[in-house]
Amino acid sequence: MARGNAIRIIRQVTLGIVAAAFLVGTWLTQARVTGWQETLWVTIYPVVAGEQNMTSDYVDNLSAREFAAIRKFVEREAKRYGVPLADPVRIDIDAPTGMPPDPPTDGNPLAVMLWSLQLRWWAWRETGDRPGPEPDVKLFVAFHDPVNGVALPHSLGMKKSRIGIAHVFASRQMQGSNNVVIAHELLHILGATDKYGPGNLPVFPDGFAEPERQPIYPQRYAEIMGGRIPIDQETAEIPASLRQTRIGPTTAAEINWPATNHPPGT
Ligand SMILES: [Zn+2]
Repeated sequence: MARGNAIRIIRQVTLGIVAAAFLVGTWLTQARVTGWQETLWVTIYPVVAGEQNMTSDYVDNLSAREFAAIRKFVEREAKRYGVPLADPVRIDIDAPTGMPPDPPTDGNPLAVMLWSLQLRWWAWRETGDRPGPEPDVKLFVAFHDPVNGVALPHSLGMKKSRIGIAHVFASRQMQGSNNVVIAHELLHILGATDKYGPGNLPVFPDGFAEPERQPIYPQRYAEIMGGRIPIDQETAEIPASLRQTRIGPTTAAEINWPATNHPPGT
């Protein structure tokens, strides 16, 4: 009896130490990732999601150049907010992977939790043994056949695992808006929340890039987490590229950028 108790206590203490080490490790990584003291390493893994040959040709021909706009976007916005780091992100592209496991559709919390564990395991198995240092953020970008009017699966970015899945079109004309989708998920991973409501309309004021603009409509830019450029009270347009996109003050605060009420030079 006494011996059984001792074993149980040892087991519980051991589990406690392991859990504490894991939590501290997660917290330290998160603090480093959003500390903006050193360059954030982001690796993009393309995924061929379409069935046409042109989709795999498109993916075969991708280079880091197609995603350079994301780096420039973060650089430009970081500078506007006075982040004291010249190269806040570095974006590499790696060889393609298979398709990540599909998220559950019913939103059951237990199913979501199991899926997130499954996704981490999957990501580790697909990319863990690749040469080079482990990136801070892994973005799986699934390229689909560009078919008019077809809705893509939802993209997502997870803060804890620092894994994102973006669904985009395998089309050069769509590369600009693809990069908006990818940058949006990257910012979710860094702690930003969505700022749009019903009908995909950006929420005022946080989902507006220039909430103080007079007259308020039409806006010139989309706020990255608001997702669209507000044109009037009922209409908002998808930005064609990150050049039409800004990081608003609330998103900036969420990703731990210095607080400023009036970022200069929008
Ligand atoms: Zn989102």
